[in-house]
Amino acid sequence: MTFSIHGLAVSRGVAIGRAVLVASSRMDVAHYFIRQTDVEAEIKRVRAARNQVVEELQRLQLSISQMSPKDAPPELGALLDVHLMLLQDTELEAGIKRWIVERLYNAEWALTAQLDVIVRNFDEMEDPYLRERKGDLEQIVERILRAMRGVANPVAVSPRSTPKNAAQDLLLDDTVDVPLVLVAHDLSPADMLQFKQSVFAGFITDVGGKTSHTAIVARSMDIPAVVGARTCSQLVRQDDWIIVDGDAGVVIVDPSPIILAEYSFKKRQLELERGRLSRLLNTPAVTLDGEKVQLLANIEMPEDAQVALKAGALGVGLFRSEFLFMGRRGNLPDEEEQFVAYQRAVQDMHGLPVTIRTVDVGADKPLDASTHDAAHLNPALGLRAIRWSLADPAMFLTQLRAILRAAAFGQVHLLIPMLAHASEIKQTFAHIETARKQLDKRGLAYGPIKVGAMIEIPAAALTLPLFLKYFDFLSIGTNDLIQYTLAIDRADESVAHLYDPLHPAILQLVAATIAEGHKQGKEVSVCGEMAGDVSLTRLLLGMGLRSFSMHPAQILAVKQEILRADAKRLAPWAQRVMASDNPALLLSGGGI
Ligand code: PEP
Ligand code: MG
Repeated sequence: MTFSIHGLAVSRGVAIGRAVLVASSRMDVAHYFIRQTDVEAEIKRVRAARNQVVEELQRLQLSISQMSPKDAPPELGALLDVHLMLLQDTELEAGIKRWIVERLYNAEWALTAQLDVIVRNFDEMEDPYLRERKGDLEQIVERILRAMRGVANPVAVSPRSTPKNAAQDLLLDDTVDVPLVLVAHDLSPADMLQFKQSVFAGFITDVGGKTSHTAIVARSMDIPAVVGARTCSQLVRQDDWIIVDGDAGVVIVDPSPIILAEYSFKKRQLELERGRLSRLLNTPAVTLDGEKVQLLANIEMPEDAQVALKAGALGVGLFRSEFLFMGRRGNLPDEEEQFVAYQRAVQDMHGLPVTIRTVDVGADKPLDASTHDAAHLNPALGLRAIRWSLADPAMFLTQLRAILRAAAFGQVHLLIPMLAHASEIKQTFAHIETARKQLDKRGLAYGPIKVGAMIEIPAAALTLPLFLKYFDFLSIGTNDLIQYTLAIDRADESVAHLYDPLHPAILQLVAATIAEGHKQGKEVSVCGEMAGDVSLTRLLLGMGLRSFSMHPAQILAVKQEILRADAKRLAPWAQRVMASDNPALLLSGGGI
């Protein structure tokens, strides 16, 4: 039966495919695709683990049978019988095999996927005794997973670690040509990054806001996505056909043929629109009245620099370096590893500027998915970004040295996140100086850098003279500026309706930062999601913004808006929008 689920539209486009539910069980397992040639080995691996658990339980059964009746709890024997029966159930084995053979899931993933299927069937059972067997099944799956950890040592096939990866194999493999849509309760930004370059045609999560970092990564992957879909991962079943409408924020499950035809048509239209936009690739971004606009890219990993260049970016306006630090289980990248990563991005941009932001972990960007900050009530107000760096000078100096060294290979701008206090500014510059001295002492080459501040805390936007005194440029992080000005958690879907880039307070802070920076002859850009939102391009131009940094996939659509705009006429209109009680209304009128 067709039904729809409404969430938040975070990444444009339409995806149609089979649902892949991940991590919906409470077990933390790796999800990766195996190669076709590894199918047999993977089936053997799970079978060996299952047999090992069967032997363990049989041994236990034997030892119970040898106990005196008063020591042997009768319920334990019955429980072991049930577990052994479930373990030898053919449905479990056949299902696991199917996920491995047909979908090329790794054994652990296949096991938990099949667990989901069986658990659903249990849930629907009338008989309470049988319904309760669900818990037993989960226990035996956990046992098998534990046995697998001991039997073999699977290494996750990371699409980034091998030039020709499993995901590419999967794409080339015509036995698995069904598009897949990933459905999860939640995905950390690091998890999401793992799926970059993977086969998924779309993403859906139950939680998350429009500018949560998971949503940002989905957008950067240019794959249709819906977040904040509430109970989606409970309503959708493994392998359901599913449509993701990333423009409307709607998920359609089990679509009827008519709906499917309609969305296939919409998908083709969007592809045609993209084709048309690609003609603007080499057109300079200049308004009708001759104002030049700089279009830069936001990237997460060094290899994204090439994508940015191909998308027509004239530089990197934001390299979120924290993604190098995430999912490392505490094993943070050393100076050499970071240097190589930054150098690669710098060299790939062939002399165009690369703005490297120092690490910004914390809040909805934990270092590891499992280290969500539960200890503090408001992690977004806690030890995040520059606060984290200043709290760990050795780590900060390591990063600064790596960035300074990469600057010997091209134009590097250093960007500092989450500054609010004069003391933080002073400490930051003192550390930059120390890093230079350390490199001098070691005789290592480094290059000149411009240093910029993110304006993303209202306190910073309200004390611009202080920032302009020290920094060469400013970059407005509207995602956090909105979060902190309006007191709206950007990752919380329950308050997503209040997360409003057009709130007059936001418009005033953004406009004032642009105006004040330009008055002092300093470059100001916007690198938050507002920069890539085509419905806001004219307004930002009218405020005087001439440098936009966004996901590479948005660059051409924003460029099209710029080419059609008359900046001189937009300036007075932008003033009217800002003075209005209802800026959204004026904006939807299309302006001038
Ligand atoms: C921002 O806050 O707008 C920004 C660009 O930084 P991040 O989204 O990484 O917090
Ligand atoms: Mg930010």
